[in-house]
Amino acid sequence: MCGIFGIFGNTDASVNTALGLHALQHRGQEGGGIASWDNGLHSCHDTGRIGEIFGEQSILAQLPGTMAVGHVRYSTTGGPNQASVQPLKANFDFGEFALVHNGDITNFLQLKQRLVSQGALFQSTGDTEVILHLMAIQSESDFNKFQNALKQLKGAFSIIAISQNRMFVARDPHGFRPLVMGTLGDGYVFASETCALDIIGAEYKREINPGEVLIVSNHNIQSTYPLGHKTVKKFCVFENIYFSRPDSVHDGEVVYDVRKRIGIELAKESAVETDIVIPVPDSGVPSALGYAQEAGIPFEMGITRSHYRGRTFIQPEQKIRDLGVKLKHNALRSMKGKTVTVIDDSIVRGTTAKKIIKMLNKVGVKEVHVRIASPAVKHSCYYGLDTPTKKELIASQYTEQEVCDYIGATSLQHISMKALYKAVGSKKYCDACFTGNYPVEKAGIV
Ligand code: 5GP
Ligand code: MG
Repeated sequence: MCGIFGIFGNTDASVNTALGLHALQHRGQEGGGIASWDNGLHSCHDTGRIGEIFGEQSILAQLPGTMAVGHVRYSTTGGPNQASVQPLKANFDFGEFALVHNGDITNFLQLKQRLVSQGALFQSTGDTEVILHLMAIQSESDFNKFQNALKQLKGAFSIIAISQNRMFVARDPHGFRPLVMGTLGDGYVFASETCALDIIGAEYKREINPGEVLIVSNHNIQSTYPLGHKTVKKFCVFENIYFSRPDSVHDGEVVYDVRKRIGIELAKESAVETDIVIPVPDSGVPSALGYAQEAGIPFEMGITRSHYRGRTFIQPEQKIRDLGVKLKHNALRSMKGKTVTVIDDSIVRGTTAKKIIKMLNKVGVKEVHVRIASPAVKHSCYYGLDTPTKKELIASQYTEQEVCDYIGATSLQHISMKALYKAVGSKKYCDACFTGNYPVEKAGIV
């Protein structure tokens, strides 16, 4: 999970990129970076949040030009490692090049092995760098290098790149990760989500199609399909459940509305009579509203969330995760003696649910019924979610009843696949994390 942003033909390119990345901060808080083009590449990246990295005006002043790309990072492939913070840059025979990428390249280890045996010297542990090395070994023009590299990739990639005076934009043939396009004046804007267009007042135009590769030059966009038209769209269903910001739009639907519908379907299937319905904020709020509305039970903000955790607490390690959850939530004492339905979007490792229930018990809640707005997450994601091993997924190791006992709930129920699809519509999604049906296999994983 990462966020990417690109802007072309705008006099405040790096400022607008920083703003766009700020709107995408929910997609990754570990690090971020911006590269701009002004007769040469300028770039800056660091660990931490966008406000911390680019808060000083003087830093953005060092990123001049009318074209920029940016990235917020949540480490998946490669783990937390500063060398992996994007934009990645390279000097090719044609000149300077910078690139941002969201998604996981599933054949990255195979490609890397081959490239290393051919003499490539990798600087980072991340998967994105293979693109640069694949480009380097071809004696062609910049765009041909780029598209030939893409043709060798498998898995998930939404990419925005700067090459001299042009911008290249690409989405993998399944469209696993989101990528949208907008306009700002006579310039173009590209971003993981529409909320990043809204923040700078850009007008949403359309999604980048699965398999589409754009060449953006001075006020002219060329759309190409070098990766083949034929594959079926497999957009990540988890974007609708958890990742995306609720005010973003995917496939013409506001994510908030979709989440509310998931809550409605969840209630139809599994509602239990309790005094109140409460969400685990923030991720459980829209589905809890839908659920409460459908079940006819009062909705209450029974758990308060602190938004002031610093960067120390957001690294993807289990110990920090445990601590993070304690720092994040607190329960209202006035729930004492009440029966409660708690709604969250998902259970991954079970850490959040266990902590929340302990908290609720401590304030004297009588019963805690947990309802989850996603089916049980049983399979690792190969396409950019932070679920590296199956072993860590509690639902892959234990039955729903065992998970219920582990988290200490009175009852536990996940939404069924059927009800989820009723809520998200019949569009084509990747649901491998629930079903194990992987549209693209991962090399090296048995
Ligand atoms: P758990 O505590 O069970 O490991 O994770 C579940 C909680 O984490 C839920 O509240 C959900 O909103 C959130 N969550 C779900 N998927 C992810 C993910 O990939 N990364 C992060 N950081 N949080 C997630
Ligand atoms: Mg959550």
